[in-house]
Amino acid sequence: MTPSAPRPRRIRAARALLADQRAVHDAAVVVDPATGRIVDAGTAADMAVRHADAAAEDWGEVVLIPGLINGHAHTFQSLLRGPGDDLTFERWRDEVLYPSARWLTEEDVETGALLAGAEMLLSGITTVAEFFYLNDQGNDMAMRAIDALRRLGLRVLFGRAMYDGPIAPSRYRERPLDAYDRVLALANRYADDPLVRVLPAPHSLHAASPEAIRLGAEAAERLGSVFTIHVAEARYEVEELRRQGARGVAAYLEGLGALSPRAVLVHGVWLDERDLRAVAAREARVVHNPSANAFLGDGVAPLLAMRRLGIRVALGTDGGCTNNRLSILDEMRQAVLMQRALHTDGSLVTAPEAFAMATSEAAQVFALEAGELRPGKLADLVALDLEDPGLMPEEHLVSALVYSASPRAVRRVMVHGRDVVVDGRLVHLEREELRRRVARSMARAARLRPDPPA
Ligand SMILES: [Zn+2]
Repeated sequence: MTPSAPRPRRIRAARALLADQRAVHDAAVVVDPATGRIVDAGTAADMAVRHADAAAEDWGEVVLIPGLINGHAHTFQSLLRGPGDDLTFERWRDEVLYPSARWLTEEDVETGALLAGAEMLLSGITTVAEFFYLNDQGNDMAMRAIDALRRLGLRVLFGRAMYDGPIAPSRYRERPLDAYDRVLALANRYADDPLVRVLPAPHSLHAASPEAIRLGAEAAERLGSVFTIHVAEARYEVEELRRQGARGVAAYLEGLGALSPRAVLVHGVWLDERDLRAVAAREARVVHNPSANAFLGDGVAPLLAMRRLGIRVALGTDGGCTNNRLSILDEMRQAVLMQRALHTDGSLVTAPEAFAMATSEAAQVFALEAGELRPGKLADLVALDLEDPGLMPEEHLVSALVYSASPRAVRRVMVHGRDVVVDGRLVHLEREELRRRVARSMARAARLRPDPPA
């Protein structure tokens, strides 16, 4: 070890949820900031013997859990909270989302990323799968968003959109081959950054042409990564596809070479039994966004059927103006509640399953070596306050985390072995700066926003 390399840290806590969701009293996790990995985990006594040289830290009366993974977000949408909150999807899109392309600058994209990233970190999210489609026929906007999330210390899976649909603002649209080249260029630019992975993101079945979807799958193959795509979020998308003669969503993707273990399908609310069997057979994955699906009135995804077929599922918040919370703690609870309401059975989808979909299973969805406090995994972890009422009593910790805990309990967050939240405060961004920046963006929006229709 060179003299300047940071020493491994041995972090003691009253409790920890180690691999396989095993709750350990008086625990310790040893992390190496030089590699960003977990070195060891177990009881504090064992760790003190095995890692006597590590720098000892006592985090006190907290429970350590693996960092939560947000499988789907659009960070700039946090600036669009409010005006469209009680509209139909079409009116929200046409009166709020699309017109925002008239005023959003690079600075706003950066501010939106800081705002969304701040909320996510403070609610225990350590990895975000951003889906970014305001590309301006280049990568400058994307880099502003990535760099803002990186500044906060978040781990970023950055889905760079490939969008060539006809009706969206021109700032979203690109020729598929140009988008393909730009995805590869962006991936290349961040190739040496351990916290950033760029993913191809053909927008959706309705806003990406067959060529764009095919090229998205191909780019993922080239990068050795997954790709991500919106699928069957609203009913009209599936009906439209059938009108055009497709046999179904899965068959359509399969025909484009885009149904494989590299495919991360976002939403899937309107996938039918035949689609789901094909998704399972091809080992494609799903990101379930229960709150956003409910907020927009899109429906309830067939999560139960997905799980029975063995499809790997992650949880996502979706954008800040279609949820409107960026909290995976909330999505775990929401995912369970919606299935139970739908199927009128209080035993369906358990707390351990929901917790896995937010951590270990989500990591599998994105082929990320994270999601568990286990040697060799990435050192992304969260400490929640055991003196928070939402975590009492603490005998059934996983249950408490899924059903009664809230982001209020998040005290510390570590990503890649480094502190990013301490004492419930962001390490890399002052709250005053964030508030000032958001106000500046809103002032610009007010000047440039068209008058609302009479
Ligand atoms: Zn989305």
